[in-house]
Amino acid sequence: MKAPVVLDGVAIAAEIKAEVALEVQALAEKGIRPGLAVILVGDVAASQIYVRSKVKTCGELGIYSELITPPETITTDEMLALVAELNSRDEIDGILIQLPLPKHVDTRRLLEAVAPEKDVDGFHPVNAGRLQSGQPGLAPCTPAGIMEVLRRAGLPVAGQNAVIVGRSDIVGKPAAMMLLNASATVTVCHSKTKNLGKFTREADLLVAAIGRPGFVTADMVKRGATLIDVGINRVTDEAEVKELFGDDPGRAATFAKRGAVVVGDIHPAAFAKSGAYTPVPGGVGALTIAMLMQNTVTAAKLRRGLPVTAKS
Ligand code: NAP
Repeated sequence: MKAPVVLDGVAIAAEIKAEVALEVQALAEKGIRPGLAVILVGDVAASQIYVRSKVKTCGELGIYSELITPPETITTDEMLALVAELNSRDEIDGILIQLPLPKHVDTRRLLEAVAPEKDVDGFHPVNAGRLQSGQPGLAPCTPAGIMEVLRRAGLPVAGQNAVIVGRSDIVGKPAAMMLLNASATVTVCHSKTKNLGKFTREADLLVAAIGRPGFVTADMVKRGATLIDVGINRVTDEAEVKELFGDDPGRAATFAKRGAVVVGDIHPAAFAKSGAYTPVPGGVGALTIAMLMQNTVTAAKLRRGLPVTAKS
């Protein structure tokens, strides 16, 4: 039995970032500098970490960035005015509103207020429609990262039975659309799916985007399948860590140091049965920022009518 291939998201992200840096250089020769505005409301610790690394990566790749940090008390109308101003500024190609927003702010209204051509998160209904109809546009970063992993690892998609567990607007649904556009036969499962294992066991390609640690167990996957684990779950219970990872000394050391380990939605024992899998951490999660950078450059090009490299 062949050992499964570990799909290294960190290495793939580095490859994508190097390519984006070259694209940024080529644009600089035309006098264009892609620009990203990031809006971070209030002080949610996890959001601050994400935002910091997005801004830092912009700097590394030569992308202009602006971090806007309104207070927690900002109203929907004030946020709408801020977005309108960013929509109108020529040096800004991408607008990212870091989620979650405070409860009193109307998130949906705001996401829909971002000009579709600057919607680098790919959440605007216009971009969802473009994705569905196969037109060039800005696609959500996490599912776009999944497609990059598959493409760069040379894994087949056309004609494969692809099963996605999870139907969120930011991961499950756009991943389904991208896989369908790449000619996979797609099944989308969710919390109301009856006999989930019956579907997952048929998958040549299984994408788990559920938000439950180790939910997809070894008996639910077909031997040799490609497993894409989108889940990012913090497990703080030592017994649960042990159930998931047995006596793995690396995870035990992480737990001892941090009091928690990060676990995907697929049980580690299932990976052993796979043909290839994305680890957690270091798989799909590692790609999201690289894809955001790619989207910012794509937005800069699309807005100026420049050709966008077609991915095959
Ligand atoms: P979400 O919006 O909470 O959606 C979860 C989906 O899982 C829903 O469609 C839900 O079904 C389904 N589900 C929940 N329990 C289920 C069950 N028992 N059986 C079958 N399906 C079930 O989550 P999300 O935003 O898509 O995120 C999913 C995971 O990916 C999370 O761990 C998140 O942290 C991670 N994530 C990672 C990245 C990244 O790598 N950068 C980005 C985004 C998310 P219903 O629709 O029926 O409720």
